[in-house]
Amino acid sequence: MELKDLLGGKGGNLAEMARLGLPVPPGFTVTTDACRAYLRTGDEPFGLGDEIDLHLERLEQQAGRRLGDTVDPLLVSVRSGAKFSMPGMMETILNVGLTDTTVIGLAGQTGGDERFAWDSYRRLIQMFGRTVCDVPGERFDAALDAAKAAKGTTDDLGLDAGDLRALVETYKDIFTAHTGRPFPQDPREQLDQSIRAVFSSWNAERAVLYRRQEHIPADLGTAVNIVAMVFGNLGADSGTGVAFTRDPATGAAGVYGDYLANAQGEDVVAGIRNTVPLQELATVDRRSYDELLTIMARLEEHYRDLCDIEFTIERGKLWMLQTRVGKRTAAAAFVIAAQLLDDGVIDADEALTRVTGAQLAQLMFPTFDLSGRPERIATGVAASPGAAVGAAVFDARRAADVAAGGTAVVLVRRETNPDDLPGMIAAQGILTSRGGKTSHAAVVARGMGTTCVCGADGIDVDVDARRFTAGGGQVVREGDVISIDGTTGSVYLGALPVQPSPVVRYFEGTLSPGADPLVAAVDRILGHADKVRRLAVRANADTFDDAARARRFGAQGIGLCRTEHMFLGERRPLVERLILARTNEERDAALADLLPLQRADFVRLFQAMNGLPVTIRLIDPPLHEFLPPLEELSVKVALAQSRGEPDGHDRALLDAVQRMHEENPMLGLRGVRLGLVVPGLFAMQIRAVAEAALACREQGVAVSPEIMVPLVGAVQELEAVREEAMWLLSSLGVQARIGTMIEVPRAALTAGEIARAADFFSFGTNDLTQMGWGFSRDDVEGAFFTRYLELGIFGVSPFESIDRDGVGRLVRIAVDEGRRARPDLHIGVCGEHGGDPASIHFFHDAGLDYVSCSPFRVPVARLEAGRSAVAATGSDTR
Ligand code: PEP
Ligand code: MG
Repeated sequence: MELKDLLGGKGGNLAEMARLGLPVPPGFTVTTDACRAYLRTGDEPFGLGDEIDLHLERLEQQAGRRLGDTVDPLLVSVRSGAKFSMPGMMETILNVGLTDTTVIGLAGQTGGDERFAWDSYRRLIQMFGRTVCDVPGERFDAALDAAKAAKGTTDDLGLDAGDLRALVETYKDIFTAHTGRPFPQDPREQLDQSIRAVFSSWNAERAVLYRRQEHIPADLGTAVNIVAMVFGNLGADSGTGVAFTRDPATGAAGVYGDYLANAQGEDVVAGIRNTVPLQELATVDRRSYDELLTIMARLEEHYRDLCDIEFTIERGKLWMLQTRVGKRTAAAAFVIAAQLLDDGVIDADEALTRVTGAQLAQLMFPTFDLSGRPERIATGVAASPGAAVGAAVFDARRAADVAAGGTAVVLVRRETNPDDLPGMIAAQGILTSRGGKTSHAAVVARGMGTTCVCGADGIDVDVDARRFTAGGGQVVREGDVISIDGTTGSVYLGALPVQPSPVVRYFEGTLSPGADPLVAAVDRILGHADKVRRLAVRANADTFDDAARARRFGAQGIGLCRTEHMFLGERRPLVERLILARTNEERDAALADLLPLQRADFVRLFQAMNGLPVTIRLIDPPLHEFLPPLEELSVKVALAQSRGEPDGHDRALLDAVQRMHEENPMLGLRGVRLGLVVPGLFAMQIRAVAEAALACREQGVAVSPEIMVPLVGAVQELEAVREEAMWLLSSLGVQARIGTMIEVPRAALTAGEIARAADFFSFGTNDLTQMGWGFSRDDVEGAFFTRYLELGIFGVSPFESIDRDGVGRLVRIAVDEGRRARPDLHIGVCGEHGGDPASIHFFHDAGLDYVSCSPFRVPVARLEAGRSAVAATGSDTR
């Protein structure tokens, strides 16, 4: 157990500072163990009271003051402090120890500063009342406002000692009226009740919500820090401040901070008065300033990282109240890690643990400049990050036309389907009102790196009328410009200014690492990740452009080419001919026409990858997905009939759609099933791969093809395809590895048998999650995942991050049994999880050889693969 587990972040760091001999006010920490026991039983654990007695006595000795002393009273602060920072979520009570008698002593000790003493007392009653006894805070606020109004002032400082003394009486009355008992005059009782209130605040609603959001375990509990009060509001030689040992926004070296003279910490937080830059402290109190700088350097040396601190100066004496490794922006995280590496403070492995894939991903998106406070008209699922501005267009074909004319467009649909692809490719961004993170729009958009907001159900899309209506009544017509933020899910009216990402410019080769400290840091740290990672990183790519970009981004091959994407656009009539074929000859003729097109596609992919492995997956979706929707065709045929127009082709299509209709197409005639039912289909694709390989060889381009069979559930399915493929390949003199996706649970459970017929496995975790959980991947996220997340059934969608216990278990079984049957089995993953940081760590642990993800995720996957390789040596990956 770490110090932080028991003492919380704040307590652990206070203890550490005390150990370093830094000026920390005396105090002690009640452990998280005690909190957990309290939360379990509703009572203090046995012996806690005695321990508090003991430590309080020590504290009193160190401070030279006693709690409750009428002449020189000790006051303490009682603060929460969990293992993971939960800013402002739990409670703090200051000035504990003040009573009707000790307040007089305090005034005496502060040189007769009665105003200060009464102000401190009224603050205690207010905080104690609200936090410990649930007295509504507004009652106290109203009384304070009334006192100020009576005095004709708007500032707290306008109230003198007499006013505050009267206010204390009012506060005490409020307390009694609400609780039915007087404000406790026994300081020890105040302390005990405060500690209990801090324990209980672990389970306050906002804390519970925050933990759920941040994936902080619910059973950690909080520690409680009891520390002697020091005061920054005792005059001009006192003050308080916050500081960072480096700039937390950019990572630049140097000391940054704010100072407020004659004030307490909460005044800084509340923004009651304006702070001054820390450097100004040098002119007011040079000694304290120099001491502070020395301490900050010492802290950075000790923690070997950016630290943030809170301090107070009480009558010229500097006190350190808190320190922790400071939060920072994504850019600062990279810059600081590289700087510390350069300075020899940390080694390269540790530098890798200081950054995350999520931070790198954040740095790769263009962003909106929101300084003009634009109006947000809707919010949806942040499906594919980025900032897109364009004219709203409600039809994919028109979107492609408008974009071809040079106008940026945002394609707006209720949901998208493969037919929309040309418009999706042409659009800057995609907005849908239905579907979740694994809907067609989301998956395709992420694959292309196109910004996408989906499932914005607050908007009503009327495709026919070419407009949508937002929840606030705003109507966006075709051609109106909108801005969508795929990182936050926000939709805005009008064109917001966009800032491009320097990191992407670097990957694209248009910005050199030397040109920008952030880019240099990314280059350095990613270079080390490449050196240490065991997992190879491939890309999911179906086009030359995607493949070429993936290579620029560092992909080591293609792990998934979805060949069905090559059946779209102008090739659709050929696919229709294939579906409508009534004789073997008609079918063979349609396939023969498709062959050269597929061959050309594969040639381009092989050229882009130039010898790196290219995994070509045979067609997966049901064929009727390539036909127009049933409703659309029915209307078309009915209209043609009513007008007496010829409808032969459409009627034939309609018959085919009706014949092939499936209630559950995801569980229907797709993947290997289709290949075994439609003669010649897979053979045409395999021939195209082989002929493309031959053509490339002739051009001197090295090729390394892999043929992958989708949706296999039984080894017999794979064997049937493999046999035909082997025969075809050998007749053409081409070698290719033949493997299978593992995406049906039965395949995972019979992986030992399936491995006999497979050179490689690639986990299709999208389908494996769909079929493992029984969740329809296109529907559930929008339908009820919000409720599931609220209920804590899972902390994150299993379509986003691998469900280690369930779906992950299927993966482990398949890896173990597959490798046992065939030790040289090459194993990867090509579902969406291949680009998800947490899942990549799982795949590393599970012993996979590679992950494959969309081109834009490749750098993130490289970084996380490196992080998972060094995580085994003990880093914190949270
Ligand atoms: C998968 O199921 O994870 C996969 C990669 O295949 P697709 O998404 O095309 O079904
Ligand atoms: Mg699949």
